[in-house]
Formats: sequence, structure tokens, C-alpha cells
Amino acid sequence: MSYGNLETLYRQVIMDHYKNPRNKGLIGDETYYKVHLKNPTCGDDLTVQIKVVDNIITDVFHDGTGCSISMSAASVMSETIKGQKLEDAKKILKNYLQMVKGEAFDEELFMGDAIVYQGVANFPARFKCATIAWKALDKAIFIHDEEDNS
Ligand code: ZN
Repeated sequence: MSYGNLETLYRQVIMDHYKNPRNKGLIGDETYYKVHLKNPTCGDDLTVQIKVVDNIITDVFHDGTGCSISMSAASVMSETIKGQKLEDAKKILKNYLQMVKGEAFDEELFMGDAIVYQGVANFPARFKCATIAWKALDKAIFIHDEEDNS
């Protein structure tokens, strides 16, 4: 497949997640770790909720408003991370951030549809849009870990 076709495929995956977001909508359950983040430069406003049972992220929900990159990335993140062990989720998260920064990343690691955001490395202005959901996930995991260790 030529790079041009790959770009088209990636754009289709992004638009599909934007139009048909997975795991969208928050639930009123206090056992979920919840993080709200904003990206003022673009107007993205996103809340992410995760549930952790026996060190597995059993549920990921998101809700908010923003551009197609940030909203689709939230859907992709939720689908990619749901069901992952915490330690694996952290590896995927780190790999994703390296990928969208244009740094070397582990191409063998499971990334799900998140792999389609590698083109963001060519558009640094969209970096915050592509990472807001993942940064919210990172903070939610951090809150979990802090509570777990106390
Ligand atoms: Zn944005």
C-alpha cells in the first residue's frame, strides 16, 4: 500500500471514531477515576473516566467537545485501553506519546487504532489535540496508583 493510500485509510479511521465514538458518555459511579482536561488553544474540553479492578482497566468512558482529532482520539484511546492491565496501558500510553512526538517508538507493541495518529508527528500544532485523552488517562492512572499506595 502506498503512503498516500495509508493516509486515506488513517483519515477514514479517525472520521469513523469522530462520527461514531465508542464508550462515549460519563456514568455517575464514584468508583471510577475521573479527570477533566482542557486544551485552550483549540477549545477541546474532555473528561475521561476509568475503572480499575485487580490492576486491569475494565472500563473507559469519555465525554466532551472539541475538534475531530481530540474527540476521535478519545474514542480510540478508550477502545485501545479497555481491558488492558495497568502496566500494559502505561506502556501503550508512553509509546503513543513517543509516536505522536515523532520519536522512535515500539512498532511491535499493540496500539490498536491508535497507530493512525502517527501522522500527527508532522503537525506539531495538533499534538495537544491528539494527546488530551491520553493525558487524562495518564492522570487517572496516577490518581489510582496514589490511592493504591496510601
Ligand atoms: Zn483540538
